[in-house]
Amino acid sequence: MIEFSGVGKQYGDGMAAIESLDMTIATGELTVLAGPSGCGKTTTLRLINRLEEATSGIVSIDGMDVRAREPTELRRSIGYVMQHSGLFPHRTVRDNIATVPHLLSWSKAQIAQRVDELIETVGLRTEIIDRYPHQLSGGQAQRVGVARALAADPPILLMDEPFAAVDPIVRGRLQREFIQLQEKVEKTIVFVTHDIDEAISLGDRIALFETGGRLAQYAPPADVLAAPANGFVADFLGGERELRRLALMRVAAVETEPGPEVTSDASSASALAAADRYGWSWVVIVGDDGQLIGWVACGDLIGGDSRIDEVVIQPFGQAVSADDTLRTALGAIVTSPLGVVPRVDGARGYAGLVTHASLNQKLA
Ligand code: ADP
Ligand code: MG
Repeated sequence: MIEFSGVGKQYGDGMAAIESLDMTIATGELTVLAGPSGCGKTTTLRLINRLEEATSGIVSIDGMDVRAREPTELRRSIGYVMQHSGLFPHRTVRDNIATVPHLLSWSKAQIAQRVDELIETVGLRTEIIDRYPHQLSGGQAQRVGVARALAADPPILLMDEPFAAVDPIVRGRLQREFIQLQEKVEKTIVFVTHDIDEAISLGDRIALFETGGRLAQYAPPADVLAAPANGFVADFLGGERELRRLALMRVAAVETEPGPEVTSDASSASALAAADRYGWSWVVIVGDDGQLIGWVACGDLIGGDSRIDEVVIQPFGQAVSADDTLRTALGAIVTSPLGVVPRVDGARGYAGLVTHASLNQKLA
């Protein structure tokens, strides 16, 4: 683990970028440092690999004060992805990625193999391997930066706003890939961002900084959203806090409403009776195999012995499954004329309705 105890950082002009920071970063987790510009995120990151030295307090890694480590040796065990990629402009992609392996005097063959491996890991195409940084798109440059940081397989990875410079579509893709990559590489990652959505979607834990590196809140994203520690945190989370909470929760986590349900070969009378038991004006129609077929409005049922499949069965339009987020479910609920969305679990079929009340109960 990485530990800050009573860490202060004053720059030459006497300004305290970090006043006194106490924070423990757990091994194997992705910890996000978030907060407005100038609050000390980059400084905190650079105190870990000694690109900055603390002016008070102790930064330690696995119980050892970083000042006891030789800086270059320390930095080789810590991958660092800089803001704006920070690639060496006069080195090719290949040589940029190979920076640390070169310093560690790996053999040519070893380096070539590792570079090929990393190109694939970060989703780049081998054609770009002999290009220079100015010949890359923003997204490609960021991927090369990540590959370079991973080259010697360091246990710790520091990433400073790695996806900030690319457009929102590329950023979304990089973020999704990065989540998968992280599951594969299992590193301790400290990730800086000023983008709250990025912090929420990537972080196991979020450290929210105020000016002066003051830790306003340090907790998993769901907890920060559910209970912001103060007004500063609430402001930073913005007006869509509840929507963001829903985006972190899955359909599997809410109770569904069974609703009135009949099979398509049932009589109109039995469908009306089912709707009546719930006090609803429509019924869910399922097949013999439990698969969802649609719904029928009571007003369309002629009554008596006529069968349901003689009237028009309306499709639901959208259904959700256990893995969908509650935000997706909400989207479906607000666009459905019925104000609900059915849950369908693959081969098992219809599994009840997600309703406004299901979401409400979960947020309460
Ligand atoms: P963030 O990454 O959150 O935007 P920084 O850690 O870069 O914040 O900066 C924190 C504060 O320290 C800012 O007020 C910044 O101007 C100041 N600062 C950062 N680097 C230096 C430096 N090398 N010399 C003087 N002041 C600095
Ligand atoms: Mg910064």
